[in-house]
Amino acid sequence: MELLDGKKVKLEILEDLKKELSNYERKLGLVVIEVGDDPASLVYVGQKAKMASELDYNFNHIKLDENVSEEEILKIIDELNNDDMVDGILVQMPLPKHLDAKKIQNSIDPYKDVDGLSDVNAGKLMHGVDTLIPCTPYGVMDILKYYNIDVEGKHVVIVGRSDLVGKPLASLMTNNNATVTVCHSKTKDLIKHTKEADILIAAVGKKGLITGDMIKENAVVIDVGINRVDGKLYGDVDFETAKEKVSFITPVPGGVGQMTVAELAKNVVKAYTLRKDNR
Ligand code: NAP
Repeated sequence: MELLDGKKVKLEILEDLKKELSNYERKLGLVVIEVGDDPASLVYVGQKAKMASELDYNFNHIKLDENVSEEEILKIIDELNNDDMVDGILVQMPLPKHLDAKKIQNSIDPYKDVDGLSDVNAGKLMHGVDTLIPCTPYGVMDILKYYNIDVEGKHVVIVGRSDLVGKPLASLMTNNNATVTVCHSKTKDLIKHTKEADILIAAVGKKGLITGDMIKENAVVIDVGINRVDGKLYGDVDFETAKEKVSFITPVPGGVGQMTVAELAKNVVKAYTLRKDNR
């Protein structure tokens, strides 16, 4: 069993980006809009700010009151869409209930949508067009690539079908010639599917849902889940029983979670390039 070390891959990605960015004529601009005081968002925005500072991006954190109107956010996004120095715009989720998250995400210029969550970018990804890809699935692909785990011809089973992880990952895997099965809460006999996976990806949000007996001998297991229980982080995979079966596995913490911010950093560069080439 070998651990897939997300931190190592992240650091290499950031180092490569630093080199690439030294040739750019201006600093790239990243704006994060945060609404309210969600404690988890505070941590995630902090990680983004740290990354932006390391890469010398112009980082603007717009923090809005919990009760801000949708109209006000849409106005801010419109201004940022029209600001040529802004390359990437991201709205930190979750948003308060009175705001329509989908509408807000779709109001971001698709060439600046560094979370890759707009309908335009989701559609492009599905059609195999080079575009901005959601950071977590992008991180899964990069970690596999780093360890030379080819997905072509493999049976990839993804547990979870969210717009954030499962669905874009299914498109990415299909576009890279894997044979893909997507499971979800209504799937009958989950174990029947997971046991057939050459590469098993868990993106559910339930601690220890995937146990060793659900895994094929020598499978590659990617654990996207992040579950906080009594202040400790756990994945969706029961590591102790899984480690006896797998060839490779991502730990939690230290696996996919590490990759997300590196992929965001890459997406800012990609957003800049795509906008330059297409406008
Ligand atoms: P989500 O939107 O809640 O989606 C969860 C998915 O799991 C849904 O498709 C749901 O099915 C499915 N599901 C729920 N119970 C199931 C069960 N018993 N068997 C099979 N499928 C089941 O969550 P998400 O945003 O995709 O996130 C998933 C996990 O990844 C969470 O733990 C989250 O914290 C973590 N995450 C990690 C990162 C990272 O950087 N590593 C980034 C994003 C998310 P239905 O569609 O039928 O409801």
